[in-house]
Amino acid sequence: MFESLSERLESAFKQIKGEGRITELNVAATVKDIRRALVDADVNYKIAKEFTDKIKDKAMGEKVLTAVSPGQLMVKIVKDELAELMGGTEAELNAKGNPAVILIAGLQGSGKTTFSGKLANYLKSKKFSPLLVAADIYRPAAIDQLKVLGGQIGVEVFSEPENKDAVDIARKAVAQARTLNKNVVIIDTAGRLAVDEAMMTEVSNIKAAVNPQEILFVVDSMTGQDAVNTAKAFNDRLDFSGVVLTKLDGDTRGGAALSIKYTVNKPIKFISSGEKLDTLDVFYPERMAQRILGMGDITTLVERAQAQFDEAEAKKLEKKIRKNQFDFEDFKQQLEQIKKMGNIKDLLGMIPGVGKAIKDIDISDDAFKGIEAMINSMTPFERANPDVIDGSRRKRIAKGSGKDLTEVNAFMKQFEQMKEMMKMMNKMPMGRMPGLGGF
Ligand code: GDP
Repeated sequence: MFESLSERLESAFKQIKGEGRITELNVAATVKDIRRALVDADVNYKIAKEFTDKIKDKAMGEKVLTAVSPGQLMVKIVKDELAELMGGTEAELNAKGNPAVILIAGLQGSGKTTFSGKLANYLKSKKFSPLLVAADIYRPAAIDQLKVLGGQIGVEVFSEPENKDAVDIARKAVAQARTLNKNVVIIDTAGRLAVDEAMMTEVSNIKAAVNPQEILFVVDSMTGQDAVNTAKAFNDRLDFSGVVLTKLDGDTRGGAALSIKYTVNKPIKFISSGEKLDTLDVFYPERMAQRILGMGDITTLVERAQAQFDEAEAKKLEKKIRKNQFDFEDFKQQLEQIKKMGNIKDLLGMIPGVGKAIKDIDISDDAFKGIEAMINSMTPFERANPDVIDGSRRKRIAKGSGKDLTEVNAFMKQFEQMKEMMKMMNKMPMGRMPGLGGF
């Protein structure tokens, strides 16, 4: 995410790192590079200039502070200001109502329908009972797409394929939600390829008819300054309540994330980074600023893990590890859960310093495929009793998984080493595990 911007900022800080003190000269040089980096990340010049003027004032105001080095001070100031530029603190979603109505608007292809599904999934995980509404009357495929998404997450979808009145559909859907005891209605509206009058009138009419608690404007972050201009056009007509930035898993430069809040004065509420339904994150400006500055985002990583790992399951697993009974079935389940946490490269990037180290390495989501194939080629008995897997069984596993015998042997060896490690950890007093750095 925002790799090029991160690199450019890091090199800007080099100007001041190692300097003994803050001076007008070294601040000016650093700030100039920061401004260039922002403009190249597709941040509008006026915003970039205002931003760096603030940085300069703050840095010069701090020159008497000797406790931290100028480099550290500069990074801290830039981090705080980046967070401020993106909204300061997180903005909560208002899903209170009977039912609460959330209207989703944006251009075609921005990711509205996908986001509607993700939001329904997210709210369901927070114990809401959502109803999805297909209000795109122009593209029958959009209704089908929403139905497929709804099916995947077990959320009902309201649609009336024959009805050509989007306002009427929205109204009926809200009434239906009351009948079905659903407490959140998510209305996916029609988009066009560009901002146009007919689309705006239709969304405005739906807004007037159903009086939504939230109007979320969905925008493709890859479109940079266009995203910001589109946001402005929608906000002028709809006065939306929040922004959703999609496709942050792509090659996004950062301009949209950095300038939307400034331009429309509405908070970014969610970011979406992938086509999988669980790759939706609440937007935290501070964490995003940290990520941009290569500091990782451990908090999000831990939260994703918490969302996937069931406490009772974790306890059961811990017991098995303590008794040295960890087997291939457990291993397989762990892989499944890690995969559910999202794109592997994205996850690794949340560990401070790792994002930069792996930016050019291609880590696909298929990274575990070989291991899974080998485990899948084992019988349930073998998975539960790794010790019985002898030479001839290994040959069969190799054949079944399309791997070489040497690969199977290497994997078996790694598994044994892992168990040895677990055994060692079991013998150690708690809190003094080797190599885990205090975790
Ligand atoms: P809509 O026309 O606004 O409803 O957009 P869709 O939800 O149909 O999305 C358009 C395309 O973008 C589809 O191919 C989606 O799978 C894809 N898409 C949506 N959100 C994301 C995202 O966060 N990351 C990526 N990589 N693709 C996305």
